[in-house]
Amino acid sequence: MSLTLDEIQNFKGKYPKQIWSLFFSEMWERFCFYGMRGMLVFFMISQLNFHEKEANLQYGATQAFVYAFTFVGGLFADKILGFRKSLFWGGLLMIVGSLILATDPHKFFFLGIAFTVVGTGFFKPNISSMVGQLYKPNDSRADAGFSLFYAGINLGALLGGYLCIAIGKGELFADYIPEELRWHLAFGFAAIVMVISLINFVFTQKSLGSIGLQPGHPDNEVKSAPIPKWQEYGVYFLSLIFVPIIMTMVAKTEYTDYFMWIIGPLTLIYLFYEMTKVTPAERKKLWAALVFILFSIIFWGIYEQSGGSLSIFAAKNLNKDLLGLDPNGVNNSGGAFFIIFLAPLLGLLWIWLNKRKIEPNTIIKFGLGFIFLGLGYYILFATRLFANLQGITSLNFFTIALLVITLGELCLSPIGLSIMTKLSTKNLQGMMMGMWFLASAYGQYVAGIIGAGLATAKEDSTNYDALITYTDGYKQLGLYAVIAGVVLILISPYVKKLMQDVK
Ligand code: GLN
Repeated sequence: MSLTLDEIQNFKGKYPKQIWSLFFSEMWERFCFYGMRGMLVFFMISQLNFHEKEANLQYGATQAFVYAFTFVGGLFADKILGFRKSLFWGGLLMIVGSLILATDPHKFFFLGIAFTVVGTGFFKPNISSMVGQLYKPNDSRADAGFSLFYAGINLGALLGGYLCIAIGKGELFADYIPEELRWHLAFGFAAIVMVISLINFVFTQKSLGSIGLQPGHPDNEVKSAPIPKWQEYGVYFLSLIFVPIIMTMVAKTEYTDYFMWIIGPLTLIYLFYEMTKVTPAERKKLWAALVFILFSIIFWGIYEQSGGSLSIFAAKNLNKDLLGLDPNGVNNSGGAFFIIFLAPLLGLLWIWLNKRKIEPNTIIKFGLGFIFLGLGYYILFATRLFANLQGITSLNFFTIALLVITLGELCLSPIGLSIMTKLSTKNLQGMMMGMWFLASAYGQYVAGIIGAGLATAKEDSTNYDALITYTDGYKQLGLYAVIAGVVLILISPYVKKLMQDVK
C-alpha cells in the first residue's frame, strides 16, 4: 500500500525517513556534477591547450548555463513532467554526458558538457522541491531537513570534487590505470555514480506516495486532466535540441553575456504573468520569494569569489601553516568539509530554538547569512596583518574566514531552498526553485566580474601589492555583505507581511 501525503507529512521525530533516500540521490548527483566541474578548467588547459583566461571564461559560461537551465527544468516539471520524471530524465542526460566524455573527452568535450548542463537543469531543482513536499507548509522542522539535505549535497561535492580530478591527473590509482585511460575513467566514474543516484531514486519512489507524480496522474493530490503523451515526448525532444545550442554557446563565451541579459528579464516577465493567475494572498508570497531570490544574487556574487579570485589568492598569498595542507585544496574543499559537520548541527539548533519559541524567522536567518558572510570577508581582509614582506600570510587565519563564510552559507542556502517550497503555489514549485538557482547563475556571473576587477588591478605588481589589492577588495565586499544583511533585517517587517502565515 502506498503512503498518503498526510501519512508522509505527519511523520514523528525530527526528519521524515524519505529524506535519507533523497539525500543519497542528491549526494551522488552532486558527486557527478562537482566531479566534472572540478576537472573542467584543468582539463581544458592541460589537455585541450586552452589559455588560462579562455578556460576560465568557458568554465564561467558552463556554470551560468547550468544554473540558468534549472529554470527550464523546473518549469517543465510543473507543467508537463512532474518532479520524478524530470529528475529521471535529467539523470539520464547527465549519464549520457558523462559517458560521452568518458568515450573521448578530447574530441567530444563540449558535447558531453552540454548534455550535463541540460541534465542538471532537469535534476537539480526538482529533487529539492520533493524534499519540500515531505513537509506540511508550516512544519517548523523543514529548515532542519533542508540543512541535512545540504550536508548530502556537500558530501557529494567534496568526494566528487576530490576523487575525479585526482584520478584524471594520476594522483590516485595511478598504478592500476594506464596513463592514456585516466581522463576517460575519471569522466566514466561520474557516469557510474549518477547511475547509482538513479537506481537509488527508483527505490525511493515507492515511499514517496503522490509526491512528484506527473500533473494529471490519477493519484496526484491536485486533480487535473492527464498530460497528452506527445507533450511529454515533446519536452524530451526539445531538451535534446537544446544540447547543440548550449554546446555552441558555451564554446563561444561572448554569447553568455547576451544570454544572461536576456534570460533574467524573460523569466521575470513570465513570473509576473503567472502572478496574474493566482490569488492576491498567493501573489504576495511570490513577491516575498522574489525578494529572497534577488538578495541571494548579492550573496552568491560575493561568496563565489572562492572559485575565482580567492583561488588565485590562495595560490599566491597563503602559506601552509594548517597541517601542511595545500592552500588551494583548503580553499576548494574546506567549505564543503565544514558544512558536512555543521549543517546537521545547525538544523538541530533550529529545532531546539523553535521548541523554546526563539527560532529566528527566514528573513532574519538570511540577514544573519549576510552578516556572517561579511564578517568572513573582513577576516579575509585581516589576513594581511599576518603577512610577511613577500606578501605571504596565514592559511590558518584564512580557514577561520572560510568557517565563518560557511556559517553564512548555512543560514541562507538551505533556508532558501526551504522557503521557496513554502512560498510557491503548488503548481509553481519547480519554476520558483528554478528561479532560486537562476539567481545563483547571476551570482556566479557577478562574481566573475568582481574577480576580474580585482585581478586586473593587480597586474605588474609585487606579491605584496597583490595581497593589499585583494584584501582591500575583500574589505569592500565584506562591507557590502553587512549592508545587505542590515537592509534585510530592516525591511523584515514588510517582507513578513508579504509572507503572511509562512515563517
Ligand atoms: N553548493 C550548493 C549546491 O551545489 C548551492 C549551489 C548554489 O545555489 N549556488 O547545491
